[in-house]
Amino acid sequence: MKLHELSAHRLHKLIKNREVSVEEIVISLFQRIEKVEEKVKAFLFLYKKEALEEARKWDKRISQGEDIGPLSGIPIAIKDNICLDKKETTCASRILKEFYPPYAATAIERLKKAGVIFIGKTNMDEFAMGSSTENSAFQITRNPWNLETIPGGSSGGSAVAVASGEVPLALGSDTGGSIRQPAALCGVVGLKPTYGRVSRYGLVAFASSLDQIGPVTKTVRDSANLLQVISGKDEFDSTSLDYSVPDYSESLISELKGIRIGLPKEYFIPGIEEEVKKKILTATKVLQDLGARVEEVSLPHTEYAVATYYLVATAEASSNLARYDGVGYGYRTKEKTNLIDMYKKSRQQGFGDEVKRRIMLGTYVLSKGYYENYYGKAQRVRTLIKEDLDKVFQDFDAVITPTSPTVAFKVGEKIDDPLKMYLSDIFTISANLAGIPGISILCGFNKDNLPIGLQILGKAFDEETVLRIAYAYEQNTEWHKRRAEI
Ligand code: GLN
Repeated sequence: MKLHELSAHRLHKLIKNREVSVEEIVISLFQRIEKVEEKVKAFLFLYKKEALEEARKWDKRISQGEDIGPLSGIPIAIKDNICLDKKETTCASRILKEFYPPYAATAIERLKKAGVIFIGKTNMDEFAMGSSTENSAFQITRNPWNLETIPGGSSGGSAVAVASGEVPLALGSDTGGSIRQPAALCGVVGLKPTYGRVSRYGLVAFASSLDQIGPVTKTVRDSANLLQVISGKDEFDSTSLDYSVPDYSESLISELKGIRIGLPKEYFIPGIEEEVKKKILTATKVLQDLGARVEEVSLPHTEYAVATYYLVATAEASSNLARYDGVGYGYRTKEKTNLIDMYKKSRQQGFGDEVKRRIMLGTYVLSKGYYENYYGKAQRVRTLIKEDLDKVFQDFDAVITPTSPTVAFKVGEKIDDPLKMYLSDIFTISANLAGIPGISILCGFNKDNLPIGLQILGKAFDEETVLRIAYAYEQNTEWHKRRAEI
């Protein structure tokens, strides 16, 4: 296999045994990027010069006998809504163009300590609003399995960068499915941690009660290793929680004896593609063969999840995005005008259509006279959705579902129909509303060779079980070995 096809774990072993240098890895990835980036457009920014300098520094340290950790010298891509100090952070929005944060996100600081090499920032739906990465103000990212299809979103750039061999690791963010859904559509591993597991400090806020940063990787082991580094309490984020972080690598055992898994009947609805359904049921059998007990369960409020999410998320977004007024950050209208008009024009010209749609919706649901009927009610339904899951988790260790009702769809297919687009997240958003962890792993392909994702949801702060099930499945199947040919 070529270097760009290897997982971070394999690269680590090669570095450790001095079979390849970090510089060779970085050079090989940039060659790969030169070959495929024009077709897939995963990156908004690339840091070739700095990455090579860092690589040489690592090689020197290694040659001096320094002990290295699992991520030392490993290249990574970062979604462009996570602040890397002094690097342009745009959220794929005109309004943040030329915004250079003076500080780095806590997740980034932790990655620096672990020794990663930053390769670049990846494309995304503007402010992480979308399911196809078509809402970027700058470019359309394409799915390497079929360049006519979208990669999913909003972390589409991160998923594509990993799926097409440009990097072994990436960070994404997940508010309603934005790590898991693109991971599913691109055939890679995407993990949304428990709310509060990873600090949100330095992640540009979309919906603060739902957002989490998480890993996008080729394998489950890499996901565990990356989560290990970014997890844990952070004094800069009061919603990050002080739970001890276990050694995730210990949960990577490839059998499932004693594990109880629920299969929620509400997730096999009309609208789900037949081939997706089939592959999930086949995966279920694999899990059973590995020793898990799988039983049908019910999550009766599932049908309200999409509506609830779009009330809560838009309300929070409208409040979070009020700060972009042309004064403190990024874009300001060039027109000479008075103060109020400057605010208006900067926002009008700076935000894209989907972001404006959500600001309007969010402002409406929070307005006097409607607040109780929409936002208040959504909060109550959110609790019901969480209670459904709590109840199932009294008897089960995990729940499995499809990650997405469909495989990757064509570029342009849903962009003019926001409601259709919103249904892409029907299976992922309950985890955000309930704050629980979820992973998407590859569990097969449809007849057109497009990837299908299996989602595994777990109890809050039980990423270990989620990783264990994912790992056991992966180790006993071959899907993850297939690479997109571009
Ligand atoms: N697709 C969903 C949305 O548009 C989820 C986005 C996300 O997780 N950031 O809101």
